Amino acid sequence: MKAAVIRKHGEPDVIEYLEWPDPRPGPGEVLVRVRACALNRRDIWVRRGLRDKRLPNILGTDIAGEVVALGSGVNGWTVGQKVVLYPALTCGRCAFCRSGAENSCVEIKIFGAAVDGGYAELVAAPEQNVFAMPEGVTFSEAASIPVAFLTAWHMLVTRCGVRPGETVLVVGGSSGIGSAAIQIARLFGAAVVATAGGDGKRQRCRDLGADHVLDHYKQPIAEEVRRLTDGRGADVVFEHVGAATWPESLRALARRGRLAICGQTTGNEVTLDLMRFFAQNQTIHGTFIGTPAEFFELLRLFAGRLRTVVDHVFPLAEAAQAHRRMERGEHFGKIVLSV
Ligand SMILES: [Zn+2]
Repeated sequence: MKAAVIRKHGEPDVIEYLEWPDPRPGPGEVLVRVRACALNRRDIWVRRGLRDKRLPNILGTDIAGEVVALGSGVNGWTVGQKVVLYPALTCGRCAFCRSGAENSCVEIKIFGAAVDGGYAELVAAPEQNVFAMPEGVTFSEAASIPVAFLTAWHMLVTRCGVRPGETVLVVGGSSGIGSAAIQIARLFGAAVVATAGGDGKRQRCRDLGADHVLDHYKQPIAEEVRRLTDGRGADVVFEHVGAATWPESLRALARRGRLAICGQTTGNEVTLDLMRFFAQNQTIHGTFIGTPAEFFELLRLFAGRLRTVVDHVFPLAEAAQAHRRMERGEHFGKIVLSV
């Protein structure tokens, strides 16, 4: 098969487009012909050697394609069926897996990090990771669902319990996950205040349903959120940017507010004013993707209720260019590789 492989860590040019041995489906596995694979920030961290240092490595966590072969013991899938993969491999045995909290599995692995991912023509996946692709979406759109929408769903719906009438602050609304969060918050009847940089990205956040979009380069976020909510603040804050936005995100959080965070692109170390935090009955949720049950529930909503935002599709051979686009921060929504 053809694959975009890293054999050393570094800048985008370490991604090599090569002939590579085909994976074989083991017992309980499905072999998938990858048709599209969406990029995530994690791809950049892995490429740089900052996560899962395994080499050689085939990146790519968000995978959509077609079934080409079934390993022994697998039934219920037909060759040619269009599928999208749940992005995490879990042990199925630990206390978290047994209790339906697979995203906390003690042995959790992610496609494109600890195991080979979707920057390739073929990937072998455990049967329990394989889900039917929603009707009416393209492979590029389907590949844009798993990490962004599942994580946003887990944060807003499962952990923060967003309710009608609440206000959600979506930090970084123009990213793949931000564009998912805006839609999910709206779907649950919340008012959405998003942040984005520049007029073009702000308008696109409004088009997705954000009620107000603040320019994070020009406006004081917490002050504006308080102004828009009669001083109350945001009931839910959706965070994935990290150190750069953390102080304003906390200042924007209402009494009894819930903040969920799933990333730290701009830095890992932050401070917390403990007295304000407990006195205002606030909650912080650390979150990592979501569960297969949430993924199943979520996929049904792509029949008209939710839509993916595909920024740009590159051929697999141009994976390095796709990485450069993500690093420049020019994109709105998901960057996808067509395979
Ligand atoms: Zn487990």
